[in-house]
Amino acid sequence: MDSAQFRECAKATIEMLIDYYENIDNSNVLPSVEPGYLMKLLPENAPEEPEDWKTVLKDFYEKVLPGVTHWNSPHFHAYFPSGCSYASIIGNLLSDGLGIIGLTWMASPACTELEVVTMNWLGKLLGLPEEFLNCSDGPGGGVIQGSASEATLVALLAAKDKMVRTLTQTNPDFDHDILKTKFVAYTSNQCNSSVEKAGVLGSMRMRLLKSDPNGKLRGETLKKAFEEDKAQGLIPCYVVANLGTTGICAFDPLHELGPVCNEENVWLHVDAAYAASAFICPEYRHLMKGVEYVNSFVVNAHKWLLVNFDCSAMWVKDCYDLIYAFDVQRMYLDDLKTTVKIPDYRHWQMPLGRRFRSLKLWTVLKMYGADGLRDHIRNQINLALHFAKLVRSDNRFIVEPEPSMGLVCFRLQDGDSNTKKLLENLIEKKKLFMVACTFRNRYVIRFVVCSRLTTKEHIETSWNFIKEETDRLMSPDKI
Ligand code: PLP
Repeated sequence: MDSAQFRECAKATIEMLIDYYENIDNSNVLPSVEPGYLMKLLPENAPEEPEDWKTVLKDFYEKVLPGVTHWNSPHFHAYFPSGCSYASIIGNLLSDGLGIIGLTWMASPACTELEVVTMNWLGKLLGLPEEFLNCSDGPGGGVIQGSASEATLVALLAAKDKMVRTLTQTNPDFDHDILKTKFVAYTSNQCNSSVEKAGVLGSMRMRLLKSDPNGKLRGETLKKAFEEDKAQGLIPCYVVANLGTTGICAFDPLHELGPVCNEENVWLHVDAAYAASAFICPEYRHLMKGVEYVNSFVVNAHKWLLVNFDCSAMWVKDCYDLIYAFDVQRMYLDDLKTTVKIPDYRHWQMPLGRRFRSLKLWTVLKMYGADGLRDHIRNQINLALHFAKLVRSDNRFIVEPEPSMGLVCFRLQDGDSNTKKLLENLIEKKKLFMVACTFRNRYVIRFVVCSRLTTKEHIETSWNFIKEETDRLMSPDKI
């Protein structure tokens, strides 16, 4: 493809995407394809001869697009949002257009420095304590990871390294490998799968502690677990607190967990992948009370902040904890002497290479402005409350627990099996997409306001689908 063809193709692609979003309402949110559909449509081998870009776009439109789940449809209410906006697409386009890899500062100074600047901007917008910010005096700072899963694993590995360093300072004869087998990580039984996986990948036993009836991990429970393990010669090393659990969006009390961790020098990481975006609105910051106790914190800007996947914003109070754990030198990576202020981000993450992810965060922060993003969050929370009101107006349903952020959990009074059947029937129709979880051993359907395109009218249409399907399920003879 030469420049002239790129110009034409890029214009056509952008036009196609704009049409896609303008008409996204007209498609079912779930595709009507069977497993293996695309493999049947595509040739077994890559083409020997180059194909015209028009053929490629045509194939995309006719073969690939029909198999896509429309995450940004106004009727997508599953999981959590997948951030997406025109502003972010532009940032991504610029990043892909440059095609740089930010291995070191010299490998692309702007890649490092824009990340520092945008992470300071975002950290301030969220109201994080100054010590987490690169612009403060200390060794804190922010870094963009690819996923919250990566951030949780990075923090676990750093916690492990830090605990070994701490214990061998007073007892230099301790065998590092034996020490590591005694380390224990803790989180609640409401944690995201990625937290449990971090234990598997980082070779640390991970205890999923019982949450309270509201889905929160309490300080007393954590303290008791530490005591049980210490009595057996084990060493508490790492705790993941959840701000906004994936199931019901519960918030662990950091002000209870923090002092328990600090007393034992245990690393406290916060997985706030979805919910922390709301902290850009000061009225929600009380939910992170106790954040000053925390060692590391992650929020997915690619969930609720209109930034396209992947953009996990992670802050640490002391970047040396990462650097000591991950610094591996090679001559070809020798660079100017970087400092905390101009970080060598390759020591803050797992891969060596890094994409210019801060560009899309930058374009979103600039093109929406803090006020625009706050409007987006508040609007989505209000839409969720509107949905909850509609559900409550129908006495066949119970909303439980209370709505949290953009999430409303609900179930039929009639019992779990009918609630499950209702969700199955709705999914079969493909007009809206939701998933389920359990709350107090009951099966509940999760309805999340996800798409930036969702309006009050869409919420009402979604509710009407749910009501019609419930009528069909509960009184089939009358329909
Ligand atoms: N933590 C929570 C609370 C989540 O809800 C999710 C995903 O939905 C994750 C972590 C995993 O995020 P990622 O896909 O960025 O690893």
